[in-house]
Amino acid sequence: MLSYVEAIRIVLDRIRPLPAVEVPLQQALGRVLAEPLNARWDMPTADNSAMDGYAFAFAGQTAGNRLPVAGFLPAGSYRKEPVPQGQAVKIMTGAPIPEGCDTVVPIEGVCTDAGGICLENSPISGQHIRRRGEEIREGEELLAAGTAIHSGELGLLASAGIERLKVHPTPKVALLSTGDELVELGQQPGPGQIINSNYYLLSARLCEEGCPLAPLPIARDRGEALSVCIKQGLAAADMLITTGGVSVGDRDLVQQTLDSFGFELGFWKVSIKPGKPVLFGTACGKPVFGLPGNPAASAATFELFARPALRRLAGHGEVLPPHLRVILSEPVRGGESRQRFVWGNLEEQEGRYHFTPSDHQGSGQNRGIQGAQALLPVDGGSQGIAAGSEVDVLLLRLPPDRATP
Ligand code: AMP
Ligand code: MG
Repeated sequence: MLSYVEAIRIVLDRIRPLPAVEVPLQQALGRVLAEPLNARWDMPTADNSAMDGYAFAFAGQTAGNRLPVAGFLPAGSYRKEPVPQGQAVKIMTGAPIPEGCDTVVPIEGVCTDAGGICLENSPISGQHIRRRGEEIREGEELLAAGTAIHSGELGLLASAGIERLKVHPTPKVALLSTGDELVELGQQPGPGQIINSNYYLLSARLCEEGCPLAPLPIARDRGEALSVCIKQGLAAADMLITTGGVSVGDRDLVQQTLDSFGFELGFWKVSIKPGKPVLFGTACGKPVFGLPGNPAASAATFELFARPALRRLAGHGEVLPPHLRVILSEPVRGGESRQRFVWGNLEEQEGRYHFTPSDHQGSGQNRGIQGAQALLPVDGGSQGIAAGSEVDVLLLRLPPDRATP
């Protein structure tokens, strides 16, 4: 059976970023830049004052010197006429330095009288001036292709006058729950029935990832019902995620139904726990993940395979969950042939993160996922890991603030 590392390699080798689209700047938030962007002009565009103060020609001025004030330059103004040597202008932060001036003293560094200002300290030539192009020069690269656009990038691009840009689209996902036993939230489960909780967990996770959802109704465990929903999902989205129906049961029909859509198998079954029956391939050129029905298995295989695939479609360079080195606060047992992924929570103590495995690791349960911020990989064949050991966990989200008592 494939290992996790072999399986994720197959996924990433098959998936390319979605073709770039041009969007207005504000729609680029959370997306990945598809082409480099260069500065169209020097930033700042001109030497300007870094302080509310007075500008003049340095020319050896020292503490105690008096200068008459020859004008006022608020931000947004521009003075064409040169300032005569030995005179100052009052200048506000951001206003361009007028000709004839090369030094600024802050308002707090002078005393004023009707005739002008008196310098309290000897200035340094050129002080408190933001130089033309010191942030970036015209033509220089503002952002490289592959950069994820967060608020900081958006602000930078806005300051540089970039109104539209090419980004990879955020993949739209069709989410299909399969199973005769499933009922929707709001219905009282009858004997043998359970609520379709996977849909709520995974759609929330997709929402956290910023991915739009193409919702699908529950598909019953019949070829025809599955076929109708799979067809709809493949038409409506960039990726199809199904849950349930991929194991070896008599009613596990997802893979054979996918085959009628030209499914190209990547893999079926990976040597992991939970999540062994996970299925991956492509149909109609779109990635398809058949996640196992058990909640902790579908959630883990989403993190291990589907989320990296989504990030690859979205154009991210780093697609795997980041590793965080933490201290294990409780022992973890070994003795499994498959690689385990243990749900757990992180807590900061004296500047280090400690990982505590959830009490409920059963793949059929939702309880162990609740409150978990990380997955601890435990190698197949491991003898177990002692409490206090340093381990690498896969970080799914940063821990919340400590609850106030
Ligand atoms: P399956 O993978 O279809 O064999 O399902 C394995 C287990 O997961 C069964 O106990 C199912 O009832 C449960 N299960 C399947 N789909 C869901 C779902 N959408 N939400 C919650 N549990 C599910
Ligand atoms: Mg089923």
